[in-house]
Amino acid sequence: MSRTFADSRLVEAIADHIRFHRKVIASGNRYVSAFGTRSEAAGRFGTVGDSTVLVEVQVRFTEKYVYMHVPGAPRHEHRVQVGARAQCQGHGCIDPVHKTPDSAVFLLGDDADGTAETALPLVQKAREWAQAHAETCRAKPYTAR
Ligand SMILES: [Zn+2]
Repeated sequence: MSRTFADSRLVEAIADHIRFHRKVIASGNRYVSAFGTRSEAAGRFGTVGDSTVLVEVQVRFTEKYVYMHVPGAPRHEHRVQVGARAQCQGHGCIDPVHKTPDSAVFLLGDDADGTAETALPLVQKAREWAQAHAETCRAKPYTAR
């Protein structure tokens, strides 16, 4: 798969979210959450009904207790998964959301760029769905009327 400039920027943005979350965790502040989802825009398709389908990549952070074989305290494992979703903004659209399965589980300490790269095929799938949906969806944009 060839990579566009926009995809390179997307990978960069995802890797930045991962690096930022590392810093937050490393700060040791007990009020910060190890859980959370960050989103990054990854596409936008105009529908035949004049509405929009938005594609975004989601970076999900979780934490898991891992018991070690040696006796001792359990340790935390900070994890990252990426996924992509497409959402139609059409008012009354009958099939507005498409989500890809999440990526494999990565550790927060793994190579951030490598983790971020795995989002691209998922984003591609979400874009394909978005484009196909945009070509057929006649739901109108929501106008609050
Ligand atoms: Zn729709």
